[in-house]
Amino acid sequence: MLHNDQLENWDRENFFHPSTHLADFARGDLPHRVVTGGKGCHIEDRDGNRLLDAFAGLYCVNVGYGRPEIADAIADQAKELAYYHSYVGHGTEASITLAKMVLDRAPAHMSKVYFGLSGSDANETNIKLIWYYNNILGRPEKKKIISRWRGYHGSGLMTGSLTGLELFHNKFDLPLQPVLHTDAPYFFRRADRSQTEAQFVTRCVDNLEALIAREGADTIAAFIGEPVLGTGGIVPPPDGYWPAIQAVLDKYDILLVADEVVTGFGRLGTMFGSEHYGMRPDLITIAKGLTSAYAPLSGSIVSDKMWSVLERGADENGPIGHGWTYSAHPIGAAAGVANLQLIDSLGLVENAGTIGAYLNTTMAGALGSHPNVGDVRGEGMLCAVEFVAEKDSRTFFDASAKIGPKIAAKLLEQDNVIARAMPQGDILGFAPPFCLTRAEADQVVAATVRAVTSVLS
Ligand code: PMP
Repeated sequence: MLHNDQLENWDRENFFHPSTHLADFARGDLPHRVVTGGKGCHIEDRDGNRLLDAFAGLYCVNVGYGRPEIADAIADQAKELAYYHSYVGHGTEASITLAKMVLDRAPAHMSKVYFGLSGSDANETNIKLIWYYNNILGRPEKKKIISRWRGYHGSGLMTGSLTGLELFHNKFDLPLQPVLHTDAPYFFRRADRSQTEAQFVTRCVDNLEALIAREGADTIAAFIGEPVLGTGGIVPPPDGYWPAIQAVLDKYDILLVADEVVTGFGRLGTMFGSEHYGMRPDLITIAKGLTSAYAPLSGSIVSDKMWSVLERGADENGPIGHGWTYSAHPIGAAAGVANLQLIDSLGLVENAGTIGAYLNTTMAGALGSHPNVGDVRGEGMLCAVEFVAEKDSRTFFDASAKIGPKIAAKLLEQDNVIARAMPQGDILGFAPPFCLTRAEADQVVAATVRAVTSVLS
């Protein structure tokens, strides 16, 4: 086994880590951690620490760590057949079964699933399908895609453009042209604090209609949104937001993409967020929860309405020119089948709903009246605490004070609990595995109170 110092040197010298302050890491100013194992809601590192992972990796290890059922399914598949492609009608028992399982769980008007590897590539697929669809329908001008500020849809060129967070645009020459951004449905941060929730929703809808009018509805192809904003701050929409947005999209014949990379397969206590909020998507993006991250796999679920046009496109133009070598990779598919079976057999969607509600209520009870806590919000197994310098005037801390990251660091240092300092604003995010127990939820809340008190007393 390699010596710890040796591994650290190799890490700092060779490994280009994503979403990392590169200079700090290379200098040694940012800690490195070698993760060696995991069981349930905990991970272990090489220094012998056992950490309660209240963010499920990157809100993806939904069934928890160390599930032998999924590991065995992966091993069996690898021994039997590690790879074959899925072009021109090829498949494996795992990929065909998984497609059926996904469609059985998806809203009734969905028709087919295209498998990719990551949330980003699934959204790239969605954009291409949307453009293809409008070309087949003879509307080559209808191509722009509306996303929301604070939305997160990936890190590619187009998907990074859809993402509405500065960090992902800065110095990358993004966003690219065909992408437009509209309001985040972020009631707590509304500019006019005298607005009621209903007035705020009307404002979001009016601004969307104004954008469509300005650009011309015949140039707008689609609207993409996460049912609950995730990386942008864990923000559930205000009441009535999605039905009101859906009505505008229907009026102007604009497709809806529900990006369910975080919410898909149970995180909100329902199988999909779309059904939870009354969205009627034409495409649904899935990734993380599809395999609980035991292997990389994503998907684009396509509606009946779009599918019939794609078929027509094939009759007119031949095979669709879109495919990845690893589309429907057998190992990912085997992981997906075992993962969805486990979610059903352990009743994990229900647990995400009940324990998630408990976590949210307990967190709100413990921190809601703290003078520097402006908002505690969540839905299902998603929870966020947002910090303010002054509550009554809703004054935010200066970003340079790094209050969110400091609280997350304290939580880890004092109690070995992992939460995520969300990238824009002082927001502490929680998205535990669905197998979280009440006792673990209590532990997360108690540790958070201690960390908040240490940093903000
Ligand atoms: N969409 C959403 C809603 C996400 O949260 C993410 C990842 N956090 C993505 C897309 C991109 O997924 P990936 O990182 O697998 O490309």
